[in-house]
Amino acid sequence: MDYKNFWLSILRRLEPTISRSQFLTWFQNTAALTLENETLVVGAPTNFTRDWISQKYALKILQAAAEENSKIKEVEFDVDAALGDGIDPRTIDLKAVFAKPGDKKIYKARGREEVVLTRSGIISAKLNPRYTLANFVPGDENRLAHAAALSVSRTPGLTYNPLVIYGGVGLGKTHLLSAIGHEILTNDPNKVVSFTTAEIFTREFVAASKKFQADEFKKKFRDIDVLLFDDVQFLENREKTQTELFNIFNELHQKGKQIVFTSDRPPSELTQIMDRLRNRLTWGLVCEIEQPNFRSRLDILKSKTQERRVILDPELLEFIAMNVTNSIRELESTLAWTTAQIDLLHTQPTVREVGKMLEKIKKNERVLGLPENTPEISIHTPAELIELVSKYFNLPTEEICGISRKKEFRVARQIIMYLSREILGCGLAEIAKSFGKDHSTVLHACKKISTNLQKDEALIRHVNAVKKEMGL
Ligand code: ADP
Ligand code: MG
Repeated sequence: MDYKNFWLSILRRLEPTISRSQFLTWFQNTAALTLENETLVVGAPTNFTRDWISQKYALKILQAAAEENSKIKEVEFDVDAALGDGIDPRTIDLKAVFAKPGDKKIYKARGREEVVLTRSGIISAKLNPRYTLANFVPGDENRLAHAAALSVSRTPGLTYNPLVIYGGVGLGKTHLLSAIGHEILTNDPNKVVSFTTAEIFTREFVAASKKFQADEFKKKFRDIDVLLFDDVQFLENREKTQTELFNIFNELHQKGKQIVFTSDRPPSELTQIMDRLRNRLTWGLVCEIEQPNFRSRLDILKSKTQERRVILDPELLEFIAMNVTNSIRELESTLAWTTAQIDLLHTQPTVREVGKMLEKIKKNERVLGLPENTPEISIHTPAELIELVSKYFNLPTEEICGISRKKEFRVARQIIMYLSREILGCGLAEIAKSFGKDHSTVLHACKKISTNLQKDEALIRHVNAVKKEMGL
C-alpha cells in the first residue's frame, strides 16, 4: 500500500477543516505508518506533537480516514523520531504541497479562527477565541444584554428564546454572541453550537440551492443545540433566505434549542424582513447595547491594556476615553496605535502626541482635554534637561550628576540620559560628557528606561510629566 499517497488524501480532507497555521504546524512531519485490522497508525515526530494531534484532531483524522477507506474503524498515534528530520521519505512537505498565493496573509486571518470540535465529532463553531465573557466588560450600556447572555449560557433554550441583541457598529454584539457560544461549550462540550452570520448563511444557502442541495443545507442545522446568528439585518430583501431561516427557526425552537440573533436595529425596524420572521424575533427577549459612557470606556481601556499586558499612563487612558466615543472598536484601534508606539519607538506617547493623532482622525471634531499650548520645545541641551528634572524631582543637580547610586538619583540621571537621546537627539558621547561618565553607562541607562517604560507605571508617569514640561 502507498502510505504516503494515502496520508496525502487524508490531509487534503483535513486541511479545509483546520486553521491553516494549526494545520501546517502540527501536521508537518507526520505520516501514515501502518494499516492493520481496521486500525490506522499515524506517526508523529515527538511526544508533544503526538499528544496534541491525538487530543485535538483524532476524530477528524478518523473521519477523513474512514472516508478514504471505509474499513478503517480506529486511529492510533505513535512517535517515530526519524519523521522529524525533515527528509524522511514517508513525510510530505506541507508548505510546498498546500502552498497558497498570499500565504502569509491567510496565516494571520485564519490563525484567529478556532474550530471547535465536540466529542461527537461535529465541527461545532468558529468562534473568535478572544471574544469570551471573561473579556467582556459589563457596563451601564450593556447591563441587560450581558445578564441575558449569562442566563442563556447557563440554561440554553430555557430562559429567553430567541435572544436578540441589537445596537450600533462596534459596540460588542458579535463579541457577546461568541461569548455565549464559548460559555455553552465550556459548560457542556457535547453541545453543538453553530455560529454563522447572515452573510455566510445566505452565501451557503444560495450555493446549495444552485446545486439542488437545499435539503443538505437544512440538514446541517437539524442536529445543532444552539444557533448563533450574527447581523440578521443582512437578510433584508432576501426572501428565499428568510424563508429558509424561518423554517430552521421553527424546527429548532420547537425542539427547545437556543437561538440568539444580533442586529443593528430593533426587530420592529427591520422593515424588509417578512412579518412572520420579524414576529418570531420578538418572541423571547430583545435587548439593546447602547453607546458606552465615559466610565465604561475607561473600564474597557483598562481591561484591554491588561489583556495586552501593557501599562499606560492613566492620564492618557482618560484622555482617550474622553475623546473616542463612537465605538469600542475605535477605542481599540486608538489603543493599538498607542501601544504600537511603545513597541516600535520604545517610548510612551504623551497626551499631546496622541491628541495630534486624534485630531487627524477626527478632522472636524474638537479634541478635548489637550494640555494648554506650551511654547515650542524649550529645552535643547542635556544641561537644561538636568535643570528641569532636578526641579521636577526636587533633587539637587550635584547629586543627580554625581556618583551616588541611591535609587532616586540614579533614576533621575537615567531619565535625563534617556530623554537627551530620544527627544533632544544628542549623541552618546555628548551625554556622557555632561555627566562625566563613559558612553556605555549612557547606553545602559537608555536601555534600562525604555525597558522599564513597558512595565513600571510610576516611571511612565514621571517620564511623561517631564516630557510635558519640555513642551511635548
Ligand atoms: P459589533 O458586533 O457590535 O459591531 P464587536 O462585537 O465586533 O462589535 O466589538 C468590536 C470590538 O470591541 C471587539 O474587538 C470587541 O472585543 C470589543 N468590545 C465591544 N464591547 C466590549 C466590551 N463590553 N468589553 C470588552 N470588549 C468589547
Ligand atoms: Mg458584529
